[in-house]
Amino acid sequence: QAEVLSPASAQELAFPAAPSPPPQLRQSQQQQQPMKTGNAIVDQILSSNPYFAAGGGLMVLGASFAVLRKGVAALAGLAYRRLLVDLELRNNDKSYDWFLHWMSNYKNRTSRHLAVETKFIQHPNGSFSTGFSFVPGPGNHWLKYDRSWFYVKRERSERIHNSGQPLETVTVTTLYRDRYLLAKILDEARSMAMKMAEGKTVLYKSWGQDWRPFGQPRRKRLVDSVVLDRGIKESILYDVREFLKSGNWYFDRGIPYRRGYLLYGPPGSGKTSFIQALAGELDYNIAIMNISEPNLTDDRLAYLMNNIPERTILLLEDIDAAFNKRDQSKEQGYSSGITFSGLLNALDGVTSAEEVLTFMTTNHPEKLDPALLRPGRIDYKVLIDNASDYQIEQMFLRFYNAEEEKCKVFLQRFKELKLPYVSTAQLQGLFVQFKDGPDEAIRNISMLKNPHMNN
Ligand code: ADP
Repeated sequence: QAEVLSPASAQELAFPAAPSPPPQLRQSQQQQQPMKTGNAIVDQILSSNPYFAAGGGLMVLGASFAVLRKGVAALAGLAYRRLLVDLELRNNDKSYDWFLHWMSNYKNRTSRHLAVETKFIQHPNGSFSTGFSFVPGPGNHWLKYDRSWFYVKRERSERIHNSGQPLETVTVTTLYRDRYLLAKILDEARSMAMKMAEGKTVLYKSWGQDWRPFGQPRRKRLVDSVVLDRGIKESILYDVREFLKSGNWYFDRGIPYRRGYLLYGPPGSGKTSFIQALAGELDYNIAIMNISEPNLTDDRLAYLMNNIPERTILLLEDIDAAFNKRDQSKEQGYSSGITFSGLLNALDGVTSAEEVLTFMTTNHPEKLDPALLRPGRIDYKVLIDNASDYQIEQMFLRFYNAEEEKCKVFLQRFKELKLPYVSTAQLQGLFVQFKDGPDEAIRNISMLKNPHMNN
């Protein structure tokens, strides 16, 4: 036992020059196991070395700062939660575009980050011009509205939403007491967007999983501007209006509230133009689904057809093309992802709280599978044909107002040409070329022999 050194004496042996620790320390060290000797050595160095002692002080100071900082952050967080309110708008919601557009027109704002948006403006005479507007770009912005301040942050996130589009957000922050103004601003932004679309038809196209406006809203096409054979426009309009009035009838009987129309006939006979005019007349928009699109799959088709924007006609153009082409040109890499049964399922599955009006067009009705023509998928079909005598006259008079006598001459000359048919698009092509007078159109009537003369 006499050979075992106590910790204190071991220390003294190892560092004979070091001053001896204070008595209390020594006492506690004596109670420790010989294994912990190292700790005691460090303590000793710390207490004896002025540099280490200062470091210890700094550490304490740093720690207090950290605690203080945490406290301030927690307090700020609390104040933020209590005093501020923020509103997040995402770019997959309409309010996002409405808000940005509203903000780009709002004078009382400070924005250092701007993004240019080019606008196409359609004038009453049909011509287009372009203009720019500066929308708030990604970054921070301030605006003052109704004597309150709003902090606006536009961000591009790394996240991607279902449609495959990157997620973008705009966060508007203001004082909690001013939160009611957020609703007011959004309301203003919505009315502004509605006003812009007033008297216009919005065309939507599928984009990823979403419907996106395609170009600027277009001026409504007037039903009178489309010349169809006697009674056709009136019967379609009557049928659509009856359908739109019968919501309760459908809901009471548990029948999906939808109706499908097929307009078939040669190209350039006004099928698409009429659907545009109908949308204008009903104050509806149009969602154009291109079913021959290579990346379309059955799932995407079903999703899109079930998520049509409200008050929108679903238009499937050249409905025969997707399947024929696919069969004929497999080797050429044609790859519409949808199957015919996928299309039928999507058509059957189209349900909505609102009415669904589906229009389909084709130049080759004989190629359509009878399964597509079943009621529930297509409930109303009508031939939109090449121009009848009635249409030739009506088209002529639309271009050359009140020129009844010349209209008769034109029709006479047309008969002498012995053309098997003429499309309304060809007639329009001729009249546009000779818009200054009917005589020129009559003189050049043989131009109708050129089947490509339409626009
Ligand atoms: P479709 O869809 O039958 O192929 P469009 O509606 O695309 O024909 O018509 C092509 C062009 O011809 C458009 O510019 C349109 O204004 C004109 N047009 C064709 N048919 C008519 C018609 N019946 N009445 C007025 N314009 C027509």
